[in-house]
Amino acid sequence: MAVEASPPTMFSPWPDRLRHSAIVLLVAGLALVALVVFGELSPTRAAIAFVFIAGAALVPWRLHDVVASREEVLGVNPVEAPAVRAIIAGMPDPAVLLDRAGRVIHLNAAAAQLAPALRKNELAQFALRSPEIITALREAIATTEPRRATYLDHVPVDRWMELTIAPVSVPTAFGGTDYCMLMTFHDQTPLRRVEEMRADFVANASHELRTPLAALSGFIDTLQGPAKDDAKARERFLGIMHAQATRMARLIDDLLSLSRVELSAHVRPDTLVDILPIIRQVGDGLEPLAAERNVKIEMDLPETPVSIAGDREELLRLFENLIENALKYGASGGRVAVSLTSAVTAEGVPEVRVAVRDFGPGIAPEHLPRLTERFYRVDVGDSRAQGGTGLGLSLVKHILNRHRGRLLIESVPKNGATFTAAFPQVKAPSVT
Ligand code: ADP
Repeated sequence: MAVEASPPTMFSPWPDRLRHSAIVLLVAGLALVALVVFGELSPTRAAIAFVFIAGAALVPWRLHDVVASREEVLGVNPVEAPAVRAIIAGMPDPAVLLDRAGRVIHLNAAAAQLAPALRKNELAQFALRSPEIITALREAIATTEPRRATYLDHVPVDRWMELTIAPVSVPTAFGGTDYCMLMTFHDQTPLRRVEEMRADFVANASHELRTPLAALSGFIDTLQGPAKDDAKARERFLGIMHAQATRMARLIDDLLSLSRVELSAHVRPDTLVDILPIIRQVGDGLEPLAAERNVKIEMDLPETPVSIAGDREELLRLFENLIENALKYGASGGRVAVSLTSAVTAEGVPEVRVAVRDFGPGIAPEHLPRLTERFYRVDVGDSRAQGGTGLGLSLVKHILNRHRGRLLIESVPKNGATFTAAFPQVKAPSVT
């Protein structure tokens, strides 16, 4: 697309115009000579007639030239100026400048990419597909008022675009005012996604809280009514109610932890902490669960301290979630291996990696990319039965992001899963 091509000029170049006058004068001169030769006209009259004809041929051209050169100096259409073209070309969003009729004067490369059918000096209405744009453009042209429209663009991928049309008043060469339209496009897709995620999150959180709440109020009704004097039922129901209340408390706890980590996401922890005692403390704390599930926790950790820049409380939550998941979902493997190694990324960044490996059923590959989404669970029933909230791995990811680390998930179905928390290594090499 010829985005940079200069507009065709309205006037023919100088030599062309002189040639036209010369031809007129030559023909007139020959005709007058013929009339004199044939005695139809006296030489004096022929000379006077030639002067008039020459005047008629040259003076309008001259006048025209004066007007033309004045307009050229002032700029026939000021918005066609190279400066305006450069401004449009330099705009970061797709931008198109149209004349009052909707004809394209300038467009930048981003606009040419967004709407490849747009051509300079052609009507934009014919090149734009979306009815929302065409309606907004028509209205802006008719009213010279700004217009906004939002539409879904399907090519090359689905994107929510916002279009703004701002009429710009432009002074004309002879003191009047004309309008042109500045049309800019803005990609709203990331904003929409965040908005959708927020709405989903609120819906999921309410649903997750409402389920145990409904169970609790159901049991309260039963205990106040039919099971009022049934001591055995009361014991059983109180046990279930306790489990539901614990689940609600855990969910609220996870939600608060998530929002705390998110709030401080931009501040990287700067305190040096030795992660070995943290991992050991988590392992010790989960021993009762491991014993209950008949799983052995094997720790393969170095003897010397391994320091990273970290937040102790958040690291406790992180390892607790990873090891607890391995014990809950990988119990059938009978063992969970926790190991620490140092490694270097493909970009050459040295890392401290803590891997939590189980030997359980593993996770099907299609679930892997979504595991860290809030409330995403491979099997909702299984997760609930294990007292899960669906927020654990999301919290892990956020904690790692804050630590400028990353989470690696590998799994072979039927052969367990490995969740690796990788942290950037601090300068002094502490892992041996
Ligand atoms: P939950 O509270 O449900 O455990 P998480 O965010 O911690 O939530 O985990 C999300 C889902 O990932 C779990 O519901 C489970 O389906 C799956 N998952 C996590 N860890 C493992 C694992 N070690 N083995 C198999 N599945 C796992």
